[in-house]
Amino acid sequence: MVRIRAVETLIVNAKLRNWVFVKVLTDEPGLYGWGEATLEWKTRAVAGAVEDLSQLLIGRDPLDTERLWQLMNRGQFFQGGAVTMSALSGIDQALWDIKGRFLGTPCWQLLGGLARNRVRMYDHLGGGDASVVYGAASGDNFAQAALESVAEGFTALKILAVPMGLALPTADGIRRAAETMASVRSAVGPDVQIMVDLHGRTTPAGAIAYGHALAEYDPWFFEEPCQPGNPETLADVARALPFAVATGERLISLQEFRDHLAARSCAVLQPDVCHVGGPTAVRKIAAMAETWNVPLAPHNPLGPIATVVNQHIGFATPNFLIQEVMRADVPWREDVLQGILPIIDGHVFPPTAPGWGIEIDETAAVSHGYQPEPLIDVDGPDGALLDW
Ligand SMILES: [Mg+2]
Repeated sequence: MVRIRAVETLIVNAKLRNWVFVKVLTDEPGLYGWGEATLEWKTRAVAGAVEDLSQLLIGRDPLDTERLWQLMNRGQFFQGGAVTMSALSGIDQALWDIKGRFLGTPCWQLLGGLARNRVRMYDHLGGGDASVVYGAASGDNFAQAALESVAEGFTALKILAVPMGLALPTADGIRRAAETMASVRSAVGPDVQIMVDLHGRTTPAGAIAYGHALAEYDPWFFEEPCQPGNPETLADVARALPFAVATGERLISLQEFRDHLAARSCAVLQPDVCHVGGPTAVRKIAAMAETWNVPLAPHNPLGPIATVVNQHIGFATPNFLIQEVMRADVPWREDVLQGILPIIDGHVFPPTAPGWGIEIDETAAVSHGYQPEPLIDVDGPDGALLDW
């Protein structure tokens, strides 16, 4: 029997966030696995949570992914929370990697085999007014960034068109959002899907007002119109808009996803494989969503391990729609991770290497050591804190 020997974290600063890589080592020489547990502004807490959870794992069989998931979640008297579940997510990904390496097969095969022969990707263009956080495109240069993405083969992209602001939108806010959306739509034409991430900035009434103003530019979906926590009010938004609402990047537990599906709060679910509990949990969320005819568009502005893990899940998941990637943060992703799948005409194709099919260059990774993430404190016109 293979046994887990050690669990390590490797923190890589990628400017906007610290990637938390998790390495699970076994007592079999050369057999280990990689996962990612990135959780912005809580990097050291997650690394500590990985260390806490590792006590449960040493000496156990890494192939028992479900049993170990239950042990790390239900086996703890206090369950869940973003920090612990992100740590668990990174470990779970690493255990699946070990399983694939041990069996000599790619993880998409273990997750169900090919439900499709390619995975469609979309490009996250950045933050507009939140450009201090997200880098990349802002305001007037969204249209230029959109054209560059399309020139590289993407047929779908996401922008943050709606500004931070008051609880109810002003004419100025509506005008700015419409101008941004109009400029991107006119740049890329009618056949590119444009998703709009509201980043939890608006109230339900505000989201509906922005939705009516942007509808003529054909948004594919409105993402996270409101702060998480209330499926019923999000359902009000979903019912009021003539296009889809997506949410889920800040939902953690299976029960939260169930509650959103039961409330019919969204047409698209966006679980994050680095927060919900890794592939073991995403598979269950996908199965729940399948019963409500809701597809997945997994959230992923994170690091390169998370991107590859999401792609494997996309290959194997029937109710999968499209996969987010954010390429705008740092130019040296491929220095740190070998095995990034090339995006060809906006799609990636199934790799054949065992596990996730990746290797980390640990020497290159440690050259980008931990740095505190940029702090965000955005004031509204009256000095009150804004949701950004
Ligand atoms: Mg988002």
